Amino acid sequence: MKELFTLLTNSPEDTKEAGRRIGRALRPGVVLYLIGELGAGKTTLIKGIAQELAGIDPSCVTSPTFNYLNIYKGKAELHHFDLYRLSSSEEFIRSGFSEFLGGDRICCVEWPDRLPLSAHFEKWFVDIQYLEFEQRKITFRSPYAP
Ligand code: ADP
Ligand code: MG
Repeated sequence: MKELFTLLTNSPEDTKEAGRRIGRALRPGVVLYLIGELGAGKTTLIKGIAQELAGIDPSCVTSPTFNYLNIYKGKAELHHFDLYRLSSSEEFIRSGFSEFLGGDRICCVEWPDRLPLSAHFEKWFVDIQYLEFEQRKITFRSPYAP
């Protein structure tokens, strides 16, 4: 796994900009694992990705509180999963979500520890670490250099 970049952001806007940059590197079939505690900024980063890949207004991208999956369609199809309320990968499979993962879309997954371990697709990773009030450390890893 290669580290493509690590950066510090000092505002939600900076994190969205990092999301746009990550969005430009993503390609169909990739599943992006977003790792970080509640409030770290995973959804904020996905706002930038969705803006870049699907032309979606960032205000339309929210944590799917009542859904587990939001789908954004633009020049690419982006599937945004928030699996916080799932208890296990068995529940993921039982709920029929597997068919929305992988394939030609780009998937961004919050709480990816709920995904089945056996799933085989190209995994990329973003770690977001809460440093202080408006400061976050973002690390982006992929199996390939750009
Ligand atoms: P998560 O999806 O990881 O639970 P959210 O993106 O929903 O987190 O929430 C992050 C919160 O932190 C938002 O209220 C956002 O405005 C705030 N925030 C403050 N500074 C930053 C930053 N540098 N990057 C991302 N979010 C930030
Ligand atoms: Mg979230």
